[in-house]
Amino acid sequence: MEIPDYLPISMLNQLTYCERRFWLMYVHGEMAINAAVLEGIQQHEKAHGGGTERDGDTIIHRRVYLWSDRLRVAGFADVVEERAGEMVPIEYKRGRKGRWANDQIQLCAQAMCLEERTRGSVTRGEIFYWRSRRRVTVEMTPALRTRTEETIARAFQLLQIGRIPPPLDHRAKCHDCSLEEICLPREVLMLMRESD
Ligand code: SF4
Repeated sequence: MEIPDYLPISMLNQLTYCERRFWLMYVHGEMAINAAVLEGIQQHEKAHGGGTERDGDTIIHRRVYLWSDRLRVAGFADVVEERAGEMVPIEYKRGRKGRWANDQIQLCAQAMCLEERTRGSVTRGEIFYWRSRRRVTVEMTPALRTRTEETIARAFQLLQIGRIPPPLDHRAKCHDCSLEEICLPREVLMLMRESD
């Protein structure tokens, strides 16, 4: 398998949720469109017209392309707010805050790219959840940064290994996953157990 120079930042979100989901989406290019995914795409389009505007003392940059040569990731931040020299990446998500760290990892990768591009320091980001209309602040702690770098390293490692990861044995995650019908986690796990 050809290893890319840069990984899409959004794929870190998928990988943190489930390694198999990352593989299906990135390597196989699978993207099951269900009502929830469609809603997410429409909300993203609403938020990401691109361009820059001013709101009082805040400059709002929409759909900002970011990359890091050190981390080998690239992608778009939905919004970057700039106030008194402070840069804050903001990510828009459908639904409400989940139980997993995938959104935080994606945001942290954006923050580290932003630091590399601006040579500044990004101490926090925000995630706006459409369904609950909540804006959650995410501190860019050393632990989150380490976890994000580990996730990137794991993504390249999986591509190097070159094999689809096994399904999770995790009903709640699989139930919320738009790829469940493509992945068939229970069926695949059953076959794997039988062939052991
Ligand atoms: S259905 Fe479960 S195992 Fe399959 S990709 Fe989704 S989360 Fe992963």
